[in-house]
Amino acid sequence: LSKSKGRNRYEFFSHAIEEQAIEKRRLIEEMRIALKLGQFVLFYQPIFDQCGINATKAEALIRWNHPQRGLIGPNEFIPVAEENGLIEDIGNWVRGQAIEDAAYFYQLSGKKMQVSVNTSPLQIDHDGLWVDEWILACNKHDLPRDTMIIEVTENTLMDPDSPVQQQMQRLNHYGIDIAIDDFGVGYSSLAYLQRLDIDILKIDRSFIKHMDTNESSIALVRAIITMAHNLKVKVVAEGVETEGQHQLLKQLSCDYLQGYLFAKPMPSKDFIDQYVTPTLLVTE
Ligand code: C2E
Ligand code: MG
Ligand code: MG
Ligand code: MG
Repeated sequence: LSKSKGRNRYEFFSHAIEEQAIEKRRLIEEMRIALKLGQFVLFYQPIFDQCGINATKAEALIRWNHPQRGLIGPNEFIPVAEENGLIEDIGNWVRGQAIEDAAYFYQLSGKKMQVSVNTSPLQIDHDGLWVDEWILACNKHDLPRDTMIIEVTENTLMDPDSPVQQQMQRLNHYGIDIAIDDFGVGYSSLAYLQRLDIDILKIDRSFIKHMDTNESSIALVRAIITMAHNLKVKVVAEGVETEGQHQLLKQLSCDYLQGYLFAKPMPSKDFIDQYVTPTLLVTE
């Protein structure tokens, strides 16, 4: 009996695995089509100063406007795109769209609204083309290069001998800001902070989340901010959801705040209305 049971279970699992593989292939095929048909969109989440009033930066966050499934978040497709190389095409699209949007924001308001773009380590090639394309795209839109921020995770910068380091240095040399995303949860050492000219640390949401209730979370956030400021690096707190967290972060001199307490990611049109040209809003 147990033998046949085991066999059934095996068949059940192998069936499930096969279905997963089919599902994944379908997703990949659909992503290719999505790129061609323009189904990807960038949402923008404003990043505020300490008081939570003025937004001078915004993070571009990809969404997929799927014809059947509706709006899909990046966690559902970016990992698959990274697995099979499609991340390169998607990343190129994100760069082009984000720069176009940033140029438009700049044109509309006459002020610099920094746009922060997420980058997968797999997009950063070793021969420097990736950096060249960033520079070319900024030039094409007459965009001051310090309007753009590139977000990478710590793991991207872990290996001091990796050519990625050199590419990041070139980016920085050209004036594009570098932000470390999800700071504190990677397996990285801190050595890269000395090697590279980092502009911004984004403290991972998991630390911010427990600040209201957990003394050690506060201690960690305080230590990160102190270290960053000593290195002349600015700090963004990610995932600020409560007024309590906001007040604590203000006390700790956190430079910038991002989170649902202030605003959720939104379509670029809404972002423009609320944060790029707010004075042009007609009040009825
Ligand atoms: P991330 O870069 O750490 O982005 C922040 C995520 O936290 C976003 O999720 C945002 O919507 C969410 N968030 C912001 N404030 C709050 C808050 O107060 N509470 C909570 N619970 N969440 C908050 P999203 O848009 O689903 O993006 C998830 C991840 O997908 C991003 O994490 C980033 O790693 C990746 N991603 C997004 N867009 C792109 C892209 O264009 N290219 C690449 N390679 N990755 C992207
Ligand atoms: Mg990010
Ligand atoms: Mg710099
Ligand atoms: Mg993050």
